[in-house]
Amino acid sequence: MPPSASASTKSQAVDKLLSRGELAKAPRSPRGNQRPRESKPPALAEISPQTPRRVAKSRIEIIRAPAFDSVPWLIHGFSTRTGGASTAYRPAQRAGELNLGFTSSDSRENVLENRRRFLKALGAPPSMKLITLKQIHSSSVLSVGENNATDAEPCQGDGLMTDQPGILLAIQTADCIPVLLADVKKKAVAAFHAGWRGTVKRIVESGVGKMRVAFRSRPQDLIAAIGPGIAACCYAVGEEVLTEFTSQFAYGRELFHEVSDSDPIRQKYPMLFLSARPPGHSNLGPSLHLDLMEANRRQLLDAGLRLGAIAVIGDCTRCHNNRYFSYRAEQGFTGRMLSAIGIRG
Ligand SMILES: [Zn+2]
Repeated sequence: MPPSASASTKSQAVDKLLSRGELAKAPRSPRGNQRPRESKPPALAEISPQTPRRVAKSRIEIIRAPAFDSVPWLIHGFSTRTGGASTAYRPAQRAGELNLGFTSSDSRENVLENRRRFLKALGAPPSMKLITLKQIHSSSVLSVGENNATDAEPCQGDGLMTDQPGILLAIQTADCIPVLLADVKKKAVAAFHAGWRGTVKRIVESGVGKMRVAFRSRPQDLIAAIGPGIAACCYAVGEEVLTEFTSQFAYGRELFHEVSDSDPIRQKYPMLFLSARPPGHSNLGPSLHLDLMEANRRQLLDAGLRLGAIAVIGDCTRCHNNRYFSYRAEQGFTGRMLSAIGIRG
């Protein structure tokens, strides 16, 4: 997904411009642009506790959903950025990072080493096959079995499912929403990549349908975990995204809210805007924010999952950029996390 117009670049340009004049700078918050946290709509799902804020940079951290942890044959987890061998994204930092995607800025050896460490931290045996995808923001879901379980050349698609033990399905993200599913009765698992395009194409909702066909899964036997991703606090989108969602979903409008003070230049230099126009007649209207986690939770509910069977990790990758890779926070120059699920061999 392309990054939004680079706020920090714009801000730097204004800094440069003003450094020649005599305008005083307004204090800037430590995170740059302070984004207000919106209160969530009435809680319908079991929300698992958010991860603690302290980040140990040298340790691999796996985020798990409690409901999945209680199923003995399941292996699952969401990675973070800490505890790896990569130094591409924060060269000044002593501890390496856990980039798990083959990006152009990192070496293949580092990523393979990081994947080895990730599997070990998950408790997966080394013989377990890690299957990833060439993700294309589609609604395409691949069924992985003994015959096509190859990690040599990733297939195109945005969903993976299997009922075969010894296969670890993994989705790569750096802001998009990863969704893991398990059928606790039929012993089958699935993993989905849901950016806004895949979400509009109902990747998760249709993915449940594909599990029903492939494994005869019943929605009431499914448990789901929505992993860390860019949350409604930070996910500013264009009007065209609203149009797409409202044309596809009856509840589409409910997934959006307006944030009025999200322009970093306006926030940093309020004096510039004081006499420009009367309130309500600004050139800089409020920005539109999308709640992708809620969008995917709604799809799981529409697909027939029980309310309490859906766990939302809830962490925002952009807000917590020290813990997670974030495409938007780092203007595209970032690593990838893996969200993985599999059946023990
Ligand atoms: Zn955020």
